[in-house]
Amino acid sequence: MNNQKVAIVTGSSRGIGAAVAQRLADDGFAVIINYSGSAAAAETLARQLVQQGGQALAVQADVSDPAAVRALFDAAERTFGGVDVLVNNAGIMVNAPIGETDDASFDRQIAINLKGSFNTLREAARRLRNGGRIINFSSSVVGMLQPTYGVYAATKAAVEAMTSVLAKELRGKNITVNAVAPGPTATDLFLNGKPQELVDRLSKLAPLERLGQPQDIAATVAFLAGADGSWINGQILRANGGII
Ligand code: NAP
Repeated sequence: MNNQKVAIVTGSSRGIGAAVAQRLADDGFAVIINYSGSAAAAETLARQLVQQGGQALAVQADVSDPAAVRALFDAAERTFGGVDVLVNNAGIMVNAPIGETDDASFDRQIAINLKGSFNTLREAARRLRNGGRIINFSSSVVGMLQPTYGVYAATKAAVEAMTSVLAKELRGKNITVNAVAPGPTATDLFLNGKPQELVDRLSKLAPLERLGQPQDIAATVAFLAGADGSWINGQILRANGGII
C-alpha cells in the first residue's frame, strides 16, 4: 500500500478550487477534482495534473445532493483507498439587497453553500482517516457585512459555526477543522457582472492594494492541509490582504 494522502476539493473545475487542486497535487496529494457542470474544465485539469506526474480524478457531484456527495466519497475511496483531506470550496454568490432577493436565489445559496457544506462535512466526519484535515470556505464578507451580501454572508456565517462545532465533535480522531475566509479574489464569482470601475475600487480596499489571486488562497489551504498547519484547529483564517 502506498501512503499517499488523498484530498477531495469540491468545486475545483474553476477559480479558487482549481488552484487548490493544482497546489495540493504539487504538494504530493492525490486529488479528486469535483465539479457540478464544468466537465470539460475538470477533465482537462485532471489530465494536466496526471501529465505533471500527479494523481487526479475528476468526479461530477452536485454538493447540494447528499446521495451525490456519498458517491463522491465512494469514488475517492475506490480509486485512491481513502480520504485524508476535504476542501469544501464549492460555492455560489448572488448579490442583491434583502428586500429584492427572490426565493430561488435564497434557496440556491442555502442549498449549495450551507447544505452542500453540511453534506460533505457529514461524510468527512464519518470517513476521514486519522490525521485528516477539513478546510471549509467562508468569506471575509462575514466581517465586512456590506449591503447586498445578506444571504451569502448568512450562509458563510453558518459554515463558520459548523467549523467550530465539528472541530470539537472530532475530539480524539486527530482531525482538524478550519475555515479559510478569502477577501475579494480574481475569479468568475467575484468579477462576473461588476463594471471595471467597481473592480478597481474593490481592489484598493485592502492595505495591500490588490485583489487576491486564486494561488494566494490555495497557499493558505495548503498550509492548513500540510504538516505546518497541524496545530491549527477550529479557526477561521481570513486570507484577504488585510481588508478586515
Ligand atoms: P467560482 O470561480 O465561481 O468557482 C466555483 C466552483 O464551484 C466551480 O468549480 C463550480 O463548478 C463549483 N460549483 C458550483 N456549484 C457547485 C455545486 N452545486 N456542486 C459542486 N460544485 C459546484 O468561485 P470561486 O471564487 O473560486 O469561489 C470558491 C469559494 O471561495 C466559494 O465557496 C466562495 O464562496 C469562496 N469565496 C470567494 C471569494 C471571491 O472573491 N472569489 C471571496 C470569498 C469567498 P461548476 O462550474 O462545475 O459548477
